Amino acid sequence: MHWFYLLQHWLAYETGSENTAGAPPNYNFWSGFGSDLGEATLIAAVLGTFKKHNCHTRWCWRIGHHAFKDPLTGVEYNLCRKHHPLHPGRRQITQNDIDEMGRMLNGEH
Ligand SMILES: [Zn+2]
Repeated sequence: MHWFYLLQHWLAYETGSENTAGAPPNYNFWSGFGSDLGEATLIAAVLGTFKKHNCHTRWCWRIGHHAFKDPLTGVEYNLCRKHHPLHPGRRQITQNDIDEMGRMLNGEH
């Protein structure tokens, strides 16, 4: 029944329940658990990166590819193509929008 042994081996390998030689029992279980934590960290990192790079206009989820410098305060914002004042096909942002973005960056909502 050699094929049956191979199948069992394959099942154990695929489900991660086979113990690694020389490692403590359930080593694979804990390393699998650890990689899940790694994924959560990765997701948080992706979200953090997204919050850093998305358009600074409130509620706008687009990636802010275009830097815009507020001529009054000198603060740089990342704006998407829809909100950048110099980008064709834009919606003109107002000084009020710029002030609101400044407040958001300073942690006031
Ligand atoms: Zn935008």
